[in-house]
Amino acid sequence: MKFETIAIHGGNLVTDSQKPVVQPITLSTTFEHQKDSLIYSRANNPNRMALENLLAKLEMGKSAAAFSSGNAAGMAVFQALPHGSHVIAPSDMYHGLKKQLVEIFHDKLEVTFIDLSNSQKLKKCLQPNTKLIWIESPSNPLLKISDIKALCKLARENDILSICDNTFATPVFQNPLKLGADMVMHSTTKYLGGHSDILGGALITKEESKFWNQILNVQKTGGAVPSPFDCYYLTRSIKTLAYRMKGHAEHAGIIATFLNQHPMVENVFYPGLTQHPGHQIAANQMTGFGGILSFLIKGGPENADKFISNLKFFSNATSLGGVESLIERRAAVEGPDTKTPQNLIRVSVGLEHLEDLLEDMTQAFDKIS
Ligand code: PLP
Repeated sequence: MKFETIAIHGGNLVTDSQKPVVQPITLSTTFEHQKDSLIYSRANNPNRMALENLLAKLEMGKSAAAFSSGNAAGMAVFQALPHGSHVIAPSDMYHGLKKQLVEIFHDKLEVTFIDLSNSQKLKKCLQPNTKLIWIESPSNPLLKISDIKALCKLARENDILSICDNTFATPVFQNPLKLGADMVMHSTTKYLGGHSDILGGALITKEESKFWNQILNVQKTGGAVPSPFDCYYLTRSIKTLAYRMKGHAEHAGIIATFLNQHPMVENVFYPGLTQHPGHQIAANQMTGFGGILSFLIKGGPENADKFISNLKFFSNATSLGGVESLIERRAAVEGPDTKTPQNLIRVSVGLEHLEDLLEDMTQAFDKIS
């Protein structure tokens, strides 16, 4: 089966003799004791099983674990690591996960943040206790590209686990497991959910291992699991993922070019632009450049805020990956300690008509020029 076919049929575990075409939602939290039966829905549930099965197939992995948010998925990894482990993570790692490492795991884990878009830097940071390399490509919000193959090769040679946050690319455009990563992480809240109405996260592993079993233990015992409703809706949304991603990427590519030529724009970060420092690597490891871009607007944060408030079709809201276009001045959301430039605007390009989006941006720029 090809990706689009798996996405539509791979999430159906229909066991009902009346054969509904779509797997029903199983709300029961408990199951009668029988040989091989499910026991309790924190440990497992038919809709979660279907979702995990689907995610494993789409990422070409062995097994998957679904969580109640992307941050819960990341946290399960950090919880599963042995005390005293050293972690290498990107300096512009998604700020919520960086916050976990800095504020929650500082007593347990040693962390080095480096610019992983330069894979040469990794070697110098390796320590005898390095257990994990966390990759995020493209990264949030600077759209930096890391050479996944090169980083994972170095990790493997040094017996270090590699995990790639594949939220921006999705398995439609990038398969980190095929590029050598041991695990993939997703905020399924984003493109996989696709409609800004489901919070979720997932981990997918290439192989079952002691470390993977420890993650499953954290998932089932910690209990940060998605509800049957969330699993159902996610499985439903994934059916259109491939088609949505094509639309998002097409629109984002055209908007990136438009911004790149606009006199009010200082710089555009989108891996599809040939000027992007990671363009060649992105072209090698991705089959599409995704639907997120960011740019620096002239006139500082004040102009950024004015531009955003002039827009009609881009909602000034955090998050990304939904069918509706979202925009925000990222530093305002990340708080006072952020290193993100104050005039950086992140755009999650939606699936509205492209002409409406371009006209909207044009009129919002005209009001501040
Ligand atoms: N990873 C990336 C790249 C993200 O953009 C986000 C959320 O924005 C997360 C992880 C965290 O996911 P969630 O918000 O579902 O907890």
